[in-house]
Parts: sequence; C-alpha cells; structure tokens
Amino acid sequence: LNDSALLNAAKKIWESIVSKRMYITGGIGSTVRGEAFTYDYDLPTDTMYCETCAAIGLLYFTSVLQKSDKNSAYADIMERVLYNSMISGMSLDGEHFFYVNPLEVDPEASLKNPDKSHVKATRPSWFGCACCPPNLARTIPAIQRYIYDESEDTKRIWINQWIDSTGAFENATLQQQHDFRNKKESTFTITNTNDLETEIFIRIPYWLDNVSVWVNGEEKVLEITDGYFKLILFSNSIEVRLTYNMPVLKWQANPNVKSAYGKVAFQKGPFIYAAEESDNESALHLYHVKGEPVAIDIEDAVLGPISVIDVPAQKLEQTEPSSLYYLYQKPGYLEKNLRLIPYYCWANRDTGEMRVWLNDGGE
Ligand SMILES: [Zn+2]
Repeated sequence: LNDSALLNAAKKIWESIVSKRMYITGGIGSTVRGEAFTYDYDLPTDTMYCETCAAIGLLYFTSVLQKSDKNSAYADIMERVLYNSMISGMSLDGEHFFYVNPLEVDPEASLKNPDKSHVKATRPSWFGCACCPPNLARTIPAIQRYIYDESEDTKRIWINQWIDSTGAFENATLQQQHDFRNKKESTFTITNTNDLETEIFIRIPYWLDNVSVWVNGEEKVLEITDGYFKLILFSNSIEVRLTYNMPVLKWQANPNVKSAYGKVAFQKGPFIYAAEESDNESALHLYHVKGEPVAIDIEDAVLGPISVIDVPAQKLEQTEPSSLYYLYQKPGYLEKNLRLIPYYCWANRDTGEMRVWLNDGGE
C-alpha cells in the first residue's frame, strides 16, 4: 500500500476485472485452459472455470485495495464473492466441493462433451489437487477481516458487511444484529470504550430500498457518502436502527457479453439466484421469464430456511419436429412458473440442469 505505482497498477487491474471480466456471481476465470482470463466481456456460462480459489483470490485482492480507498464498491464485490461464487464451492453438508462454479450446467454435456468435462454437475468429495477445500476452510473462520475495518490511527471504523457479530476495537465495541427475514430491521450498537472521538461508517447495501434510519430513537435523514452512513461517536453509546425492504432485483448484462444477451438474472439480498431442475421441468433453455417475480420464504428440508423467487415464464411447447432443421413456424408457449433458489445452494438435491441467466420474455 505504500508503493503508489504498484497500488495504481493493482487498482487498474481490479477495475478491469470487475467491470469487464467478472461473472455476476463474483466468479472469475473464463477458460479452463490455464484457468485464466481471456478478453473483455468474454464470459461463457458453461465452459468457464470460476474456481473457488479464484473467487477467494478476488476477495483477498479486494480487501487489500479497500484499505487504500474507502468506497463501498469494494465491500460490494467482497459480498458478491462471499455469498455466491465462494460458498457455492462447498455443499451444505460441508463434505463435498466444487473446483468449478458454473453459471449453467447440463449433466449430459458435462459427461459427454470433453470441453465441458471440467464442469461438474455434482460436488466431488475430494480432489487429487485439493486447493479449494482448505482455502474455504481458512477463509470462512477469518470472516471478521471482511466484516470490519479500522484505520491505522484507530480513529475510524468501517462496518463493511452486514453479518450478525460483535467487533472489539481500540476505541469502540460494535455489535450488529439483523432480522432480514421477518421484521426487515437491523440494529447496530456502538459503545465507546475510552471517550475518544471516533468516526463510524456503516455500509448501506445497494440491495435494500425504502431505508429509514433512527439514531438513539430519533429518525434521521440517511445521508450516504461513498456508500457509507457516517456517525461520530463522542461518548457512551449509539444505537442505530434501520428498517427497509429487500426487493427482488432483475439484472441484465452489458450487451457486449454475448453469452448473456437477451437474458436476465435475479437477486435478493446479496444472493444471486439460479433455476434448478429439482424445482422445474427439464429443458431450462426453453423458458422465457416474463412478468413480476415474487420472493417467498420457505423451510426446505435440504436447503433450510431460504427465500425462493417464483417468476412467471413461458415455456416453448415442443411439438417434436421430425427433422433436425425445419422451416420456421411461429412458436407456441405454455404458461409456467419458474422457481429460483439462491445460487450458493444449487446441486444439493438431485443432479440436474441449472442456470443463472434466463431468457428474457419481456415485461
Ligand atoms: Zn482451488
């Protein structure tokens, strides 16, 4: 961080990654050959690498840059990685792992097409070269590094991630508690431990809307600078309470991303969503999503308490043409509902198709 030429070069590389070469899940690595980047906007969804270790590498890289430049753009990327392409590397039973975290899987293609043989449809239990499992095992217990940050002179503290926790610092103790599921309410309790003036910065995630804030019971205007809500702690303690909505977000990719053109992806909270064959009829490529998505809180026997997203869709009515190619005819569609689950928990039930980017059927 003291070498400004190196720091500027690193920032340029980071900018290039997150603006042109990163998957919506936070995964990186567009090709299996060399497990590497390729060129700008080349983000194929079913032949990429997106190694769990690469996601963790992006997390580390971003956390270092964040120390030099306090903007929530860094915490946004760390969150995208943490909740999506990183934890998808491990099964919910904690005993099976993905090297490759694809955005689209067809189990038959993984079995029979050599160009897709690295894209597994289920998590193997171990690898000959086992880098990803221990990398996850050391990163998850070190999660506090990504939640909080403190300036070297201890006069400023940042809360980067909204994760239930307590952080003890030189000048203050911070506690955060969230109820994302029922009340849609978060409380940050900040206690001054030595009567020194300290600045506290709370990141306000971009995936909330209608955010209201109360400081010690008094409603305040939520002023956000570089993604953070700033408070000054003089003495005693401050309690910050926020209420909000967590809407379903519908994304599209830059049109230069050929693999995602004409497609949309969904998000709720920090989670990117995926459609899986366990919840939907097969041939996920034949669905076109259309209309308002609805989030529903469920208790799934395997996936646990999660929010699913149900989105109306039209599925091509297949009339089994006898030829491989046939003259154009107007397609007929069946009205369907497509159920989406958080991407990180895919491949924990039956083996089947999965996809993140879905054909857009319009409004
Ligand atoms: Zn690895």
